[in-house]
Amino acid sequence: MTVVDLRSDTVTQPTAAMRAAMLAAPLGDDVFGDDPSVNALQSALAERLGFEAALFMPTGTQSNLCALMSHCQRGDEYLVGQFAHTYRWEGGGAAVLGSIQPQPLPHQADGSLALADIEANIKPDDAHFARTRLLTLENTIGGKVLPLAYLSAASHLALGKGLSRHLDGARLFNAAVALGGDPYQAARQICSHFDSVSVCFSKGLGAPVGSVLCGSRDFIARAHRWRKMAGGGMRQAGVLGAAAQHALDHHVARLADDHALAQRLAAGLQGLPGVTVEAPQTNIVFVDVAGPSQERAAGVIPHLKSRGVLATGLYRLRFVTHLDVDAAGVDRAIAAMRDYFGA
Ligand SMILES: *Cc1c(COP(=O)(O)O)cnc(C)c1O
Repeated sequence: MTVVDLRSDTVTQPTAAMRAAMLAAPLGDDVFGDDPSVNALQSALAERLGFEAALFMPTGTQSNLCALMSHCQRGDEYLVGQFAHTYRWEGGGAAVLGSIQPQPLPHQADGSLALADIEANIKPDDAHFARTRLLTLENTIGGKVLPLAYLSAASHLALGKGLSRHLDGARLFNAAVALGGDPYQAARQICSHFDSVSVCFSKGLGAPVGSVLCGSRDFIARAHRWRKMAGGGMRQAGVLGAAAQHALDHHVARLADDHALAQRLAAGLQGLPGVTVEAPQTNIVFVDVAGPSQERAAGVIPHLKSRGVLATGLYRLRFVTHLDVDAAGVDRAIAAMRDYFGA
């Protein structure tokens, strides 16, 4: 029995076509700037998203860290969501390695940060305070898509207060596909509200490794120095760059399939006693286990595993659809959940 792995969209295996693209990639030493496949990827993404320059990174964590360090100096501060990856899930790197202080803000129900909270937390120019330099948003955030009107308003507020704007767009293309229309155009529209964007290729896009940071030429030159210091200068990185390029060209539009499977899963879990399903906007389904069912929550993940279904969480279960999951796999997850919760 093949395992239906819904723990994350990071678990995807490179497709045969992607492996072929990796094998065929022309290579050079990227620390010398000589790798044609990395250079092609960087130009292609910068152009598609409307930035001057881009830089290939081993991970999204390193990409966000280099971005924050390129926007902020020691003793500066960034405004960030309480549950944002750049605050909560990156080992405190901005503070530890960058001497940059986070100012975490609560999320609204739609994942956004209230404009009033952003404004109220911009510190006055006074020696008591860290210098507020940057607003960092994440899109998608917990699988939710930030509305374009919100991005525009937050961006204008930040600009008016002299802040730079960074987007952790690990799942930028999921957000773009969910907006509808041409996904590359939608991604560009999202990016128009930011000075820099970090995009993951190792999530739903299905590449084995890699993120790309986009921004102005000056910004990317600063990030390049930080990437070297962080140990992210890679040599014949084009084997990885070619996988990301293949994903950019062939795996963007198909994210709609993952979103449809998330809808199928959510629909199939409706009505289970003690279980509340949050309507998914993209490829992540959250399921809250409440009431008397909570006592049995600890058994859910092992039960699913015994049925060949992997997921994460306890009282809040998380199921993520991706390239290597199909409708039959989703139906197996639904059946295993219905079994467990007795419906
Ligand atoms: C996955 C992810 C990252 C980067 O994670 P890495 O594992 O370091 O590539 C950054 N932000 C968000 C929102 C993510 O989901």
